[in-house]
Amino acid sequence: MKIKGLERIRFLTPGLAAVVTLGMEALVGAITYLAGGTQFALTHLMYIPIILAAYYLNLWGAISSAVIGGLILGPWMPMNVNGNVAQTNPDFIFRTCIFMLVGMIAGLLFQPIKTNTSEQLHISFMEARTGLSNLNTLRYEISALTHEKKKFSMLAFRIANLFDINAYVDYSIGEKSFLYVAEKLENVFGKQNVFMASMDTYMILLPNTLLEYANAMAIKAEDILAAPVTMDGLVVRLEVQCAALHSPSHGTDTDELLRKLKIALDRNNQEHSQTPVVFNDEMIRQNREKFETLTALYAAIQKNEFFMVYQPVIHVASRTIRGVEGLLRWNHTNIHMGPGEFINIAEKAGFINEITKWVIQHSVQQIRIWQDAGIRTKIAVNVSSKDLNDDSVISYAQECIKTNGIDPQLLGFELTERVITENEAKVRTLLNRMRAMGVNISIDDFGTGYNSLIQLVTLPIACLKIDKFFIDHIEYENNQAVIRETIRLAHSLKMEVIAEGVETERQLHLLEKMDCDNIQGYYFSKPLSAKEYIEFATAYQQNSKSGEIK
Ligand code: C2E
Ligand code: MG
Ligand code: MG
Repeated sequence: MKIKGLERIRFLTPGLAAVVTLGMEALVGAITYLAGGTQFALTHLMYIPIILAAYYLNLWGAISSAVIGGLILGPWMPMNVNGNVAQTNPDFIFRTCIFMLVGMIAGLLFQPIKTNTSEQLHISFMEARTGLSNLNTLRYEISALTHEKKKFSMLAFRIANLFDINAYVDYSIGEKSFLYVAEKLENVFGKQNVFMASMDTYMILLPNTLLEYANAMAIKAEDILAAPVTMDGLVVRLEVQCAALHSPSHGTDTDELLRKLKIALDRNNQEHSQTPVVFNDEMIRQNREKFETLTALYAAIQKNEFFMVYQPVIHVASRTIRGVEGLLRWNHTNIHMGPGEFINIAEKAGFINEITKWVIQHSVQQIRIWQDAGIRTKIAVNVSSKDLNDDSVISYAQECIKTNGIDPQLLGFELTERVITENEAKVRTLLNRMRAMGVNISIDDFGTGYNSLIQLVTLPIACLKIDKFFIDHIEYENNQAVIRETIRLAHSLKMEVIAEGVETERQLHLLEKMDCDNIQGYYFSKPLSAKEYIEFATAYQQNSKSGEIK
């Protein structure tokens, strides 16, 4: 094949010409033979590399690619290989201009799209308010470090009271606190090492750092953050919690490390530790155990594992049974937990209502069964704070009373002072409704909470239960003074008093002297099963002075 253009180049510089000729002949030859000449070549296919160049190499890349494309399909390529028909100059010049125009338009069009995409990309790796990298970047950097088998420490800082600052102080102070913590952490650890993990948590990645050193730095940061700071004229005290771990000691998988750091941080939240909580595998075991307990507790109603016991309350003056307190028990093969513990778990997990309803239903049924057996006994059940978030528990009690046809006066509710203080307005309405139903209300563990005298005067409370703590330490004059004055106050407000946890004759004697109305405690009886209670009540009926059970 002879190509006129290449012939011309041969005369320029013989050495270079030889190389260029060979290269160009090979390239153009291949393309031309494949295409059969520009007449047959799909010249429009050249738009593909031009557009790709516009995207990847921007405007000038596109124009250059258009020029190269124009030259490839240009003066050295005949129009038809077979007939050796050459192209005319206007032919390829016009084509090259069109290529350049397309390259220019494509380059200009892609420019804003690419800027936008890179901004989006930036946003997805940065947090706008703090200008810090976010969790995506952190993940990326952890993966890079573990990939290179590098050792590193990680810290997490959470502002524990940020929610309270937002809710009770001001949202703008919350925002400022958040930025303030970012700034202080940047000062201690360097901006490139601080990452914003969530709305209240920052994480720190410290490559090539021993855990001990990371811990020491964390303590320094905590000290700085613990100092009160003035924002908009308000003195704010931030509660910052910290957790720490090390890779590879605690793992090398990104998700696993982040999960473990969060577990340690949650542990700090429970323990309120002043120093960083370092992750350990025991935490995972304990969490799994907690989860298993929670699942088992959740299933306890369906599996019939709950049962009630009843502790008699004795009227001191007449030595008669005043009623019983209904106490819940959980019978599980592996888990041995008292109500104080499992009620707390159910409260936190949000299904205490179901348990309380179960207790109410069984207590009301028990009242009916005893009544049918000739024993009229009042049962007081414990109600927790979450039970009074809405009126479903009260409505349920009303329904049970009606279905079982019992006297509402035989059902009582015991509330701790905490229950009342947590949601006073709502509780007030519900207590009035209970009282209107005829149900008795007692304040449990009296003296351990924060009841105000106003609450005592204005709420429909029938009884105060003095906490076991005061009875345990009744020998101390101060405790005697508290008990004596509580009894006096209760009587002035037309309330009765029950002393909880009475175990000795001496305690009974002192309480009797102080005019205490009722006694509950091991001295008279431990909590009993329904069957045992019938025996107790029958024996007590015979032994008691009056023989009457109130
Ligand atoms: P509480 O309502 O103050 O119940 C009194 C607790 O003191 C009971 O513990 C009872 O067995 C114990 N006790 C009574 N007399 C004595 C005594 O003389 N000596 C000693 N050492 N202890 C005595 P229990 O049954 O373990 O219940 C603990 C707490 O769990 C209860 O305190 C109550 O707050 C809660 N609880 C129990 N059952 C329920 C329930 O059905 N619902 C709710 N929400 N809480 C419950
Ligand atoms: Mg109680
Ligand atoms: Mg109590």
